[in-house]
Amino acid sequence: MKAVRIEKPGDIGLVEIEKPKISHPREVLIKVVCGSICGSDIGIYKGTNSVATYPIIIGHEFGGVIEEVGSEAGPLKAGDLVAVDPVRSCGHCYACLHGRQNVCSSVKCVGVHMPGGFSEYVVVPAERANKVDPARISPELICLIEPYSIGVQVNSRGRVAKGDRVLVMGCGPAGLCIIQDAKARGAVIIASDIIDARLEVAKKMGASATVNVQKRDIREAVAEFTGGEGMPVVVDAACTVESFPLALDLACPAGRAVIMGLGAPMSQVAAVAVTKKELDVIGSRLNNYRFAEVIDGMERGIYNPELLRSHTFPLSDAVKAVNLVLNHPEEVRKVVLNF
Ligand SMILES: [Zn+2]
Ligand SMILES: [Zn+2]
Repeated sequence: MKAVRIEKPGDIGLVEIEKPKISHPREVLIKVVCGSICGSDIGIYKGTNSVATYPIIIGHEFGGVIEEVGSEAGPLKAGDLVAVDPVRSCGHCYACLHGRQNVCSSVKCVGVHMPGGFSEYVVVPAERANKVDPARISPELICLIEPYSIGVQVNSRGRVAKGDRVLVMGCGPAGLCIIQDAKARGAVIIASDIIDARLEVAKKMGASATVNVQKRDIREAVAEFTGGEGMPVVVDAACTVESFPLALDLACPAGRAVIMGLGAPMSQVAAVAVTKKELDVIGSRLNNYRFAEVIDGMERGIYNPELLRSHTFPLSDAVKAVNLVLNHPEEVRKVVLNF
């Protein structure tokens, strides 16, 4: 079967590998239907993802149809359409025992630390295969459930609730999912980016105001939006060295800043930036069993995955698709691979 493998930074190809087999009674074999390309896949390709291991079959946003189930795989059966949660955890460390398995001390993400979903078949634990009704969610969009799970995780971590004013810095796919979920929670959102086309989509996803930070000072825009107070919630979905301290700067006293970057380069943050305003600086990583919530939201139409998708390629053009995301990030939202 075919799979998309990154051998080392800069070296990607479609390779022929052996079809996986179920080796545990609680596993299922899935024929993959679709996958979508993430910024973190590009980070693995470029060598800037500080948590990746090589060589690696990439892909953590994917889903498909169950072909075979293990003897103890629960209610799932062959023919079921499922979206796969890529998080794997140990179940007995401090984080796992405290309901935070997405930051398990030995957490693994499919497609980052172990073979991913950009392959014709995958074997996954049944508990990570989330059933989707194909009559209510288009099978070719089920790969986008994972990016929305990131948005739900971020807003949950940031305790985003009705009436909150939220600044989302960065309107790439993650930012857009955060915006749409924050809107669904009743928040009022201001979105920033450097690309006008992205800000247009941010508006369609629910942002009340947008700021192109290359044309307008973000501090000034936030002051105007909040009557000079600053933002109760700031989400750093821009994930640059500068955006982390800026997020702390733009938050109001007693506010929250949700940080989701995975870069290792150092940002400069003064202790007083946190203490003076008694900020909650909150990390958000992967998702903590959010798939059911996202599937429910998609089925009820509160999320719009069709708008999140900008391109579709067949699996045979996966390398071309990855290079499109790498070289023209301004032109793409989510690129979906059709298997
Ligand atoms: Zn992703
Ligand atoms: Zn654990």
